[in-house]
Amino acid sequence: MANFGIEEALETLGLQEINEGSSTGSVNFSNGEIIASYSPVDGKLIGKVKASTKEDYEKVMTTATAAFKTWRAIPAPQRGEIVRQFGNKLRELKEPLGKLVSYEMGKSYQEGLGEVQEMIDICDFAVGLSRQLNGQVIPSERPGHVMREQWHPLGVVGIISAFNFPVAVWSWNTALAWVCGNVCVWKASEKAPLCSVACQNIIAAVLKDNNLPEGISCIVNGDYKVGEYLTADTRVALVSATGSTRMGRIVGAKVAERFGKSLLELGGNNAIIITPTADLKVVVPGAVFGAVGTCGQRCTSTRRLIIHESVYDKVRDAIVGAYGQIKIGNPLDESNHVGPLIDKDAVNTYLAAIEKAKAEGGKVLVEGGVLEGEGYESGCYVKPAIIEAENHYEIVQHETFAPILYLMKYSGDVENAIELQNGVAQGLSSSIMTNEMKEAEKFLSFAGSDCGIANVNIGTSGAEIGGAFGGEKETGGGRESGSDAWKTYMRRQTNTVNYSDELPLAQGIKFDL
Ligand code: NAD
Repeated sequence: MANFGIEEALETLGLQEINEGSSTGSVNFSNGEIIASYSPVDGKLIGKVKASTKEDYEKVMTTATAAFKTWRAIPAPQRGEIVRQFGNKLRELKEPLGKLVSYEMGKSYQEGLGEVQEMIDICDFAVGLSRQLNGQVIPSERPGHVMREQWHPLGVVGIISAFNFPVAVWSWNTALAWVCGNVCVWKASEKAPLCSVACQNIIAAVLKDNNLPEGISCIVNGDYKVGEYLTADTRVALVSATGSTRMGRIVGAKVAERFGKSLLELGGNNAIIITPTADLKVVVPGAVFGAVGTCGQRCTSTRRLIIHESVYDKVRDAIVGAYGQIKIGNPLDESNHVGPLIDKDAVNTYLAAIEKAKAEGGKVLVEGGVLEGEGYESGCYVKPAIIEAENHYEIVQHETFAPILYLMKYSGDVENAIELQNGVAQGLSSSIMTNEMKEAEKFLSFAGSDCGIANVNIGTSGAEIGGAFGGEKETGGGRESGSDAWKTYMRRQTNTVNYSDELPLAQGIKFDL
């Protein structure tokens, strides 16, 4: 595909040889079956990588555990300097990497660039953090004693990532994990393996320039079976897993069984509450971008609109009208708003969900369907759909990773809307559109939204680095990318030091010999 500069981007990222199905450079001793990566944009083969066998995985773990001994001994601010250099490399490679993300995953080029920008932002955040991994000094009850808390690196952090953010999620984890003194082993999504190889090439060059072991950053490729090597391995202190609730249920249990730590970032079922005072100028772009951006394949995508009955018709008509303006097509063409779904399985799931919603009584306001003809040859382009539905429908209770938006009414006070918003099993992102201060504060209060993310007058999708990202209930409870999320990547140690000549016991206990 000569247009849109994809070949040049692949070459700049060191992926020109990737069609050989060869080992993927750097720390990836892959000898397993070949994984072919086809673009959902045009259905063409982009490249092939080899999956990691169990033996390959063992080699990676030996390399990673050896690298940990070097890396943990380097002072945290100097580790931050390596992350700073990595961030600068990303600045240089933002366009080709953004293009690869767009071509391999299918999101718009603008969103691909946005993903790389998030990588840069988390690097900046982590660099500052590398001088702030502070513990506390705690007053001791015993004379001549001091108590303090230290934070130490964990060791190997395993990262399992989803297809929809094929580069950013890795960096959210690695940038923090690295400054904390850990080494990382990444099992990327089997649906976007080339993105992982491109990232590994970038960090490997930085490590080489600094004479540091490559094992600080490793990748293994393959499907869930390779993910299982990480979840079962006691050498992997923390498994950070991003993906479906189905996956998280298995991974969380598996890691807990061996008393490992897990950080789970799972599915969402995100709603916007639209109150009588909501400003349509904010509501329409917020809801439409939230529902159709990344073709509805964001964990924070807007799935439900809970609209006050007094403004229901007006809001419905405005949103339906805006859907008429949406351009669907090649995401590298910047005039298009919506690209393809990741693959044909996703298309079938989308079609089945629409049928299910209809069967449960849903009324279709904007028809869905698969697009055919020139430009849609991959078979992965679908029309964003809007369905009037009720919150209790089985299909509405589930996350369908596709552009289907459910509209529902509420009456009376905002508490009724909050009840609907919270009335699902997931708890990732939520939002209220209101100009009424009391409604906004109720929504943000302990009795309000039960989600990890609660916004006022912006949509559910599009989080910034700096705030802790993640959600409650079936979203898994993990937090990453901001606030004090770094603590998950470290182990806490309490130290009590006696600088007196006596040995007083805590709680005044006497033990005279
Ligand atoms: P998925 O669950 O199918 O796969 C995610 C990753 O888990 C892949 O790398 C896969 O190989 C691996 N995996 C699957 N089963 C496993 C097992 N038993 N053991 C070990 N590894 C296993 O998800 P997907 O289709 O790639 O991504 C979409 C899902 O991810 C959606 O549910 C979305 O909401 C969620 N997601 C959540 C966040 C968040 O931060 N909360 C971010 C992005 C995506």
